[in-house]
Amino acid sequence: MKYSGDILTDDTYSFSGIERPVAAPLYQTSLFTFPDVDSLSEAVKDESLSHLYTRGNNPTVELVEQRIAKLEGGDQAKLFSSGVAAIASSIMSCVEQGDHIVCTKDAYSWAKYICGTYLARFGVTVTFVDATDILTVERAIQKNTKVLYLESPGTLLLRVHDLRALASLAKIHGIKTIVDNTWATPLYQNPLSFGIDLVVHSASKYLGGHSDVIGGAVIGSDQLVEKIFRTEFLPIGHVPDPFQAWLIQRGMRTMHVRLPYHYASALAVCDHLYNNEKVEEVYYPMHPKSEWYRLATSQMSGGCGLLSLKVKSTDVSRIKQAVDRLTFFRIGVSWGGYESLVFPSLVAKDGDPSVIRLHIGLEEPESLIKDLDQAFSIL
Ligand SMILES: *Cc1c(COP(=O)(O)O)cnc(C)c1O
Repeated sequence: MKYSGDILTDDTYSFSGIERPVAAPLYQTSLFTFPDVDSLSEAVKDESLSHLYTRGNNPTVELVEQRIAKLEGGDQAKLFSSGVAAIASSIMSCVEQGDHIVCTKDAYSWAKYICGTYLARFGVTVTFVDATDILTVERAIQKNTKVLYLESPGTLLLRVHDLRALASLAKIHGIKTIVDNTWATPLYQNPLSFGIDLVVHSASKYLGGHSDVIGGAVIGSDQLVEKIFRTEFLPIGHVPDPFQAWLIQRGMRTMHVRLPYHYASALAVCDHLYNNEKVEEVYYPMHPKSEWYRLATSQMSGGCGLLSLKVKSTDVSRIKQAVDRLTFFRIGVSWGGYESLVFPSLVAKDGDPSVIRLHIGLEEPESLIKDLDQAFSIL
């Protein structure tokens, strides 16, 4: 386990230079002051290197950035006010008017909105593809393609992309690759090691880990992350508040303890769901029965608590009733915290009403399994 004591002890919180507090200092300040004008002149020369104003840099935010960069094996990371801010900025930093994006159709809905709707206003076009099929991706590439946007495992059905193959394909064509790595977390998958250019995360999920903070991150080479800093982060200003960053660093301290529990519980729930006669299909790529298992285990060393399933019933009102009967699983969006959650696809516009997404939280898996059994018994 690479995420252990070392990463927690070698950032010494040495910003103050006074002591070594066991908890990270919170620099809840909007600006930094200088002893004289010359020092200020030095700081304004390059805001990416200085502590001038918290829209640029802040030590509490940097602490999180350094940890995430280290976990992902990147030169640098930038923390954003949300996952979608990190996604939008990383995509925008790679395209200009007239460029083209190839985007997986398994991407998070707002990532698709950025690629397909928002950037269309600026003359950027997009082709949505089934990125699990490398030939389809290759055929979608045009002369002006600049970005291949991926998410693996993908939203809802958790389909897996062959990240090594897609990274090499993109390199041949001079295309930047971006992967949303939120599901696997930096503990279980490091896309940069497969040749991917930029990794994005929603820190609102397992990095924060307690459903009490929103945040996002981009990780990559010095060159790419510094460009994002100059062209999107600083000018557009979707930066995290220091306290937001502080909550994320606190969550990250227990990530290596929480994730294996989510993973084991999710596998136990999947085992049970595969044997439940009311269930048609289970979607969890790290389960040996998944069609993605071989590829998934060649890229990831574990999984999180998010899975989906399809019930045999297509009776919308029955499915609603079944979801309402759940007691441990609270009804809501998002995932990654302590509480187990359920999100039925029937509430989404084009959702398959038989598909239900579950977040397996940190409660005892036996209780969650019992809860699912009693709820699905009416289907
Ligand atoms: C939640 C989520 C996002 C968006 O992150 P926010 O922090 O909510 O902006 C992006 N990608 C995935 C896979 C997510 O689950």
